[in-house]
Amino acid sequence: MSLQALKDQIPQWAEALGFSATGFVRLDRSDHESHLLKWLGNDHHGSMDYMARNLELRVDPVGLLPGSLSAITVRMDYLPASEMTRIEETLASPSQAYIARYALGRDYHKVIRRRLTQLATQINEAASGLKMPQYVTRACTDSAPILEKRFAEQSGLGWIGKNTLLLNQNRGSWFFIGELLTNLPFFDAAKVSANHCGSCTRCLDVCPTKAFVGPFELDARRCISYLTIELKDEIPTEFSDGQSNFWLR
Ligand code: SF4
Repeated sequence: MSLQALKDQIPQWAEALGFSATGFVRLDRSDHESHLLKWLGNDHHGSMDYMARNLELRVDPVGLLPGSLSAITVRMDYLPASEMTRIEETLASPSQAYIARYALGRDYHKVIRRRLTQLATQINEAASGLKMPQYVTRACTDSAPILEKRFAEQSGLGWIGKNTLLLNQNRGSWFFIGELLTNLPFFDAAKVSANHCGSCTRCLDVCPTKAFVGPFELDARRCISYLTIELKDEIPTEFSDGQSNFWLR
């Protein structure tokens, strides 16, 4: 199998493992570095000190896997179309509590990492026929200091919206992303999706804690996800008193 044939085969293997889309991108120093430094400088990461650690790896992930050249990016959808009606009914009901859909299933870190590892095994076996020195891959999904959304965007899996999430025209943001770092040279010309947010500001307007400082800029200290998962102290009264009880909305 040639390198190109292997590259053509990978999306099919990925699809069989449950991934909805696959992309390829050259690993290089991130052009998102200035955005990250500004975000950290504004203390928008709050108590997530780990975000400020391993900065060099975050902006240049080659250090995560010495010799790595490219990333194979994948998308896994987690919202079955059949669930949409039920979710909308739950969200509209003032008497029902709801839990983020992504958290209802099995731990996505384990699921995606296991499947990425299976994909890596297939790739490495096929690559053993190539006359190349070594074939290594490393699976990542929200598990390594790497700017995942940036690579997903650059490989054509979607665009980073004003809500700072990766978006896809068909699937919204109802999906996980992951990537395999590899020293196989799977290069595509960067094919960044167009940003389809346009003049829309719905996410900025509707956020109950006003966590968006502006488009593409999240102050994590105000984000419900941060307040309920990352923050080890009490939730500030600004967000927890009866007057602003958005938790039950
Ligand atoms: S601006 Fe509109 S389209 Fe873009 S992320 Fe926000 S809600 Fe979605």
